[in-house]
Amino acid sequence: MARHAVTFSRRALLAGAALALPATASATRAETGRITLIVPFAAGGPTDIVARLAADGMARHLGRAVIVENFAGAGGATGTLRAARARPDGTTMVLGQMATHALTPILNPQAGYDPLADFVPIGLIANAPMVIAARKGLPASSLREFRDFVAGSGNRLSFGHAGLGATSQVACELFNRGTGAAPVSIAYRGTAPALNDLAAGQIDFACDQLTSIAPLIRSGHIQGVALMAATRSPVLPDLPSAAEQGFPDLSVEVWNGLLFPRGTPQTVVAEVHAALTTALDDPGLIRRFEELGASVPAGAANTPAAFGALIRSENARWRPVLERLTR
Ligand code: ASP
Repeated sequence: MARHAVTFSRRALLAGAALALPATASATRAETGRITLIVPFAAGGPTDIVARLAADGMARHLGRAVIVENFAGAGGATGTLRAARARPDGTTMVLGQMATHALTPILNPQAGYDPLADFVPIGLIANAPMVIAARKGLPASSLREFRDFVAGSGNRLSFGHAGLGATSQVACELFNRGTGAAPVSIAYRGTAPALNDLAAGQIDFACDQLTSIAPLIRSGHIQGVALMAATRSPVLPDLPSAAEQGFPDLSVEVWNGLLFPRGTPQTVVAEVHAALTTALDDPGLIRRFEELGASVPAGAANTPAAFGALIRSENARWRPVLERLTR
């Protein structure tokens, strides 16, 4: 064993001596043998769930480990900035979603990255609608009843979210806007810890993707108030949609995808994109996403260019909405 270790470190030294030679992306990846997938929110939340399912599926097709690392904070900006600054050699990618690649950069000028110029899109993974949920004991048997309750509560209530620009923050602010009240806004490193506090009755309400909030509603730890969509989801058939409750504007569906830092070679992007689409072709993985309340985009249409176009159009769509919201 010891002899082996010496041989290995000598080899590592030789590899180090070769650093003067131009390092190709594939040589670097071969050395480490793994890809880090940065998740810019806390473990156990909806972004993390989507990332880990995709990482497992992709690793099988790439023949390399895809390691999820959570770098949470600032509505996803902390981890996303880290990914933007990573070496563009195919060893680091980021789970980018509606918050990190549309909402946060618009709302937070300190985010430090450009969601379009600083990244190379790989492809979408899954989309999921948001849900408004309240702690047990509050009058929330319908969206109208809860809205009226919040409207009459001034600033006595609190809502939890994953930071400025997170979908959980923006979705709840859209709801708050209609109440005229100003509930206290409490930022967490992700919605997993926010939902823990909601279930424990420490905060009054929260908005999050169906993927992570559904089990807590089903088990009765929190109350589902509305699915922020036009129609219901088979995952929670008893939860009325916002539209059917008379609030068609309270509709927020979150997209999640993968991106490399700008400058990553096209061959690497193509290889990882192929692994992603092959993984997403697996009926078992599609079923798992569907059981969680997420939908997987159709294979052939899920190209890097289409994902780039979606990010561009989502930035254009959200900017005026967010300007109105913060006015
Ligand atoms: N995706 C969530 C949000 O945007 C955060 C999380 O995944 O924890 O609020």
